Amino acid sequence: MKLNNEILAGLIDGSPYPIYLILGEELTVAVANAATLEAWGKDKSVLGKPFSEALPELKDQPFESLLRKVMQTGEPYRAVNDRAEFLINGKKKVSYFTFSYQPLKDEQGEIIGVVCYATDVTGLVESAAELTESYHMLELSELRFRNLIQQAPFAMCVISVSDLIVTDLNESYLELVGKTRAQLEGFRIWDAVPEAADTYGPIMQQVIASNRTFSAKEAAVPVVKDGVRELIYVDFTYEPVVDLSGEVTAVMVLGIDVSEKVNIRRATEEMEERIRLAVDAGDIGTYEYRFDTDDFVTTERFNEIVGLSGSITREDLINQYHPDDRKLSAQALQTAKAAGRIFYEARLFQQGSPMKWVRFQAKVYYGSDGNPTRTLGTAIDITQYKALQQQKDDFISIASHELKTPITSLKAALQLLSKMKEQINPVLFPKLLDQAMRNMAKITALVDDLLDMSKLSQAQIELKKASFHIGNMLENSCCLIQDSAQDKLQLKGDLELMVHADEHRIEQVIVNLVNNAIKYAPDSAQILVDVKNEGDVVKVTVEDFGPGIAPERLSQLFDRYYRADASGKQVSGLGLGLYISAEIIKRHGGEIGVESIEGQGSRFWFTLPLS
Ligand code: ADP
Repeated sequence: MKLNNEILAGLIDGSPYPIYLILGEELTVAVANAATLEAWGKDKSVLGKPFSEALPELKDQPFESLLRKVMQTGEPYRAVNDRAEFLINGKKKVSYFTFSYQPLKDEQGEIIGVVCYATDVTGLVESAAELTESYHMLELSELRFRNLIQQAPFAMCVISVSDLIVTDLNESYLELVGKTRAQLEGFRIWDAVPEAADTYGPIMQQVIASNRTFSAKEAAVPVVKDGVRELIYVDFTYEPVVDLSGEVTAVMVLGIDVSEKVNIRRATEEMEERIRLAVDAGDIGTYEYRFDTDDFVTTERFNEIVGLSGSITREDLINQYHPDDRKLSAQALQTAKAAGRIFYEARLFQQGSPMKWVRFQAKVYYGSDGNPTRTLGTAIDITQYKALQQQKDDFISIASHELKTPITSLKAALQLLSKMKEQINPVLFPKLLDQAMRNMAKITALVDDLLDMSKLSQAQIELKKASFHIGNMLENSCCLIQDSAQDKLQLKGDLELMVHADEHRIEQVIVNLVNNAIKYAPDSAQILVDVKNEGDVVKVTVEDFGPGIAPERLSQLFDRYYRADASGKQVSGLGLGLYISAEIIKRHGGEIGVESIEGQGSRFWFTLPLS
């Protein structure tokens, strides 16, 4: 079949691609298929018109001159994604074409026109432009995101899931983990911060696997800063970052260093704990009192000290006071309002118990108006302290008294002696001299005891140990004892034993025990001194058959200043002899003790090691 013009014209007209033909010098639009007319926004009326008349809007565009050039040179012209502006229904429309201008020749080879084959690529070009645009936007938003990260006041770090490499992080993060950017960026996170890997590696893995955010408060994180390992506390979040398909591609770490807050809180807690311990150890009772409501809150220990229980009022407390001390609390409170502190000591009574001394100390707290609102205070049982103080006062008065008697006597003897300077009375003179000597010896003994006591209490006594014959030592000691009592003394037992000790100090102990027997058991017909070899120790016992000592007093006899005869039945003494003796024996590594039955007598004993 031969294709006729009609068929060919139909083929061209049906093409979805614009095809048109320009003929002659006039550039007459000879053919323009439907796709062309559509692209131009024209109808068939343009056919037969010159190109410039058919499309006047292209006047300032290069198409006409391009067509002429093809006509003149015969060179085809090709353009890709070229822009053209048409007027469609009075509106400007921009289109893009990829097209070619082909020269059309007649049978003689003369160029008679130009055929244009075009593709409207407006859609493609526009979407490509859009793509570029959104790419720019993306770049911009990524930049913004990075800036956000950099400037964030909290630590931020992005870790890619595939290899756990740190892709982004800010200064705060570097500060937090104590690293430089060079040590972190581009590195696998747990290679860069190995100190935290054990604890936080599995958590991050969990976030990736579950696509769930993980948050922690005040988490302890070990870090190494300047080579020093330290523990910081961090509030942090591991946030999974997902792509469009919902896949976790990165983990974003957000964190704030809260170490300071935690450390301050811990320090406060520790301080409270320390105070609590101090209060417990010091057996201190504490209380709080509110001025406005008269509320009184006390601890159990406080109640114990003041001898009350349950919830108590200030009045309950004051009722426990010795009547003479009841005004103290009100007085203290009154002065405290201005002075800010409370301090007083009161005597308290408790049913069935001896009187107690309690010291109250408190600090006053003021409201914003400057008025006192409450007091916080402590109570301590100072009964023992007061007793010791009393003992000391008593001791000083006893010691002065003890010294005063022989001194008065010595003074009297010396006065009389001085009166007979001119003419000596041969009867009185030796008597007075003897009196003076005896009193001087008493004073010396008292002063020696006082000195020994203070030396012993400061551990200043040095032992001069040597081997000696115990029998000889006892014989010597007896010479130091009142003549009148010499007959009562009886030495027996292993008197040949050799002992290694400070002979002078042991003598002092014997003299003390024997003198006590003479003083406190004056009616005892005998005083027995017994020496017994007990294998590794020698035991020396001084026994009298006097009034004995009440069992409840036995345990305190060796205490400093203790005198069993509380009624003060007029035997002089400082209450130091047994204390000094006990110290001397203890320093030798021996033991000292007493057994006594009231009405039958006492046996004081001590041991010394024999080796
Ligand atoms: P001092 O004799 O100065 O009072 P001591 O320490 O030597 O001090 O004795 C303490 C107390 O022990 C004495 O006050 C006395 O009451 C009691 N005491 C000591 N020896 C005897 C004794 N042999 N018999 C009865 N009481 C004694």
